[in-house]
Amino acid sequence: MISSTLAAPTSATGRLRGRCRGTAPLPGRLAPWIQRWLQAAPLAELVARFGSPLNLLCTDPMRENIEELQQAALACDSTLDIYFARKSNKCLTFVDRALACGIGVDTASEHELRQSLRAGLSSEKLVCTAAVKSESLVDLCLAPPAGHAEAGAGDEARAEGRSAGIVIAVDNTDELQLVSARARQLGRRAAVAIRLGGFHHQGRKLRTRFGFDVDRDTDLVERLGELPVDVQGIHFHLDGYDAGQRVTAIRESVRWAQCLRRRGHAVSFVDMGGGIPMSYLEDQRSWQEFRRRLELALCGRGSPITYQNHGLGLSCRQGKVEGQLRCYPYYQAVVRAAWLSSILQAECGRTGRTIAGLLRERELHLRCEPGRSLLDGCGATVARVEYRKQNADGEWLIGLAMNRTQCRTSSEDFLVDPLLIPARGAGDDRGQPAMAGYLVGAYCAEGDLISWRKLHFPAGVQRGDLLIFPNTAGYLMHFLESRSHQLPLATNLVVAAAEGPGFEVAVDAIDTLEARSNVLV
Ligand SMILES: *Cc1c(COP(=O)(O)O)cnc(C)c1O
Repeated sequence: MISSTLAAPTSATGRLRGRCRGTAPLPGRLAPWIQRWLQAAPLAELVARFGSPLNLLCTDPMRENIEELQQAALACDSTLDIYFARKSNKCLTFVDRALACGIGVDTASEHELRQSLRAGLSSEKLVCTAAVKSESLVDLCLAPPAGHAEAGAGDEARAEGRSAGIVIAVDNTDELQLVSARARQLGRRAAVAIRLGGFHHQGRKLRTRFGFDVDRDTDLVERLGELPVDVQGIHFHLDGYDAGQRVTAIRESVRWAQCLRRRGHAVSFVDMGGGIPMSYLEDQRSWQEFRRRLELALCGRGSPITYQNHGLGLSCRQGKVEGQLRCYPYYQAVVRAAWLSSILQAECGRTGRTIAGLLRERELHLRCEPGRSLLDGCGATVARVEYRKQNADGEWLIGLAMNRTQCRTSSEDFLVDPLLIPARGAGDDRGQPAMAGYLVGAYCAEGDLISWRKLHFPAGVQRGDLLIFPNTAGYLMHFLESRSHQLPLATNLVVAAAEGPGFEVAVDAIDTLEARSNVLV
């Protein structure tokens, strides 16, 4: 399914795409603003001024992605409270946009939480799902400073005997004890969601390192009895993108919610975490063809399409392909709204009853914490070509002022064709010979390839050209970025007016904060 953030590529964009593509091409989806920027924005000047690589950010597609999910829920007669998973991009512009759109923010550290509070989010619009929670983070959740929006609301909640804090997704027994101890110390009750894991789906237990185990920790409901905690919700976050697994987990969560209610907890929501799928690629064919060509190459039945025939998780033994492609599924047929609808409309229990119906019946609100899928279309990374050279095998390497941590997640590779903008003044007829090679980065390591894929440049590539990696806002810019070699981090430029005639930008406030120090602000 193609989302509304897409416009049909213009012929100018088609020309752009033609200048750089993989041996098995993987043309990416391009949001309208990035198409406009690629054609006319003074990118070379911006890179000259702010350095390479340069991250461009635009929050307009985020609003569309939010509305798409909200409308899907509405159509299923379901409530949906969205909490944007901040760890997917560090820029504060997305926190501001979340606030403006009336959604919440899911925070994964004390810095993320403090910054979100300072941006003006109120306690009930925040959730803390940090994998490790320090005492001071717990204290902050228990007693957040009252913001403008909620002056008085906290007092009201406390007068009614409810906790006024930020919901903490509690992951394990030690954490539960820490939260309880700090709550006693501060004379408060903690607002928590119980994180569950280890669900049974289609006869198999879903493995995870997170959460209380649905089989082993069944005594938890009793153990909670004497503790100063109010369980407000059940939380889970599953690996992968399987809608059926979410259906299973929601049903089990509803069961736990009912158990907890019988013990006096006012459970009001089920939080299904993130992992809402998106597609980076224009079409399914290119994705299937890429896989086919990769497998042929690995089995020696086609020429390599990756550096030194890298398998990206796959390998070939006795003519058979083994292993898993360790990459995000860059094309997925069912994304965002359609995926959410399939969960809400899934039948469960009695005939005819859906997940949406079950949640309604039990008076449970559905929450989710999408990161990547909300940032679909919201960013691009621009890097400058610094050199071309041949390696010992005679293969061409194209050196970028960038390193692999600046466009990478836990995936083995970013499987989208970059776009090439020739150095200023040079057109497609610049008389450069066609060439093919690999993009390499600034780290002094054999493995610092920006992408393992072999790329073709029909009109050549040279020093001063720009390569643009599209749709990098979700995780790719920041999740792994490092300052190794004392190379500065990329500047984050927020595109001020996506639609207007100009090309105004502002440096995101996170860059100033990070430059200042490591002190919590
Ligand atoms: C990472 C994470 C998310 C966001 O996941 P996406 O795949 O970006 O949607 C949400 N909730 C929790 C608890 C997470 O760890």
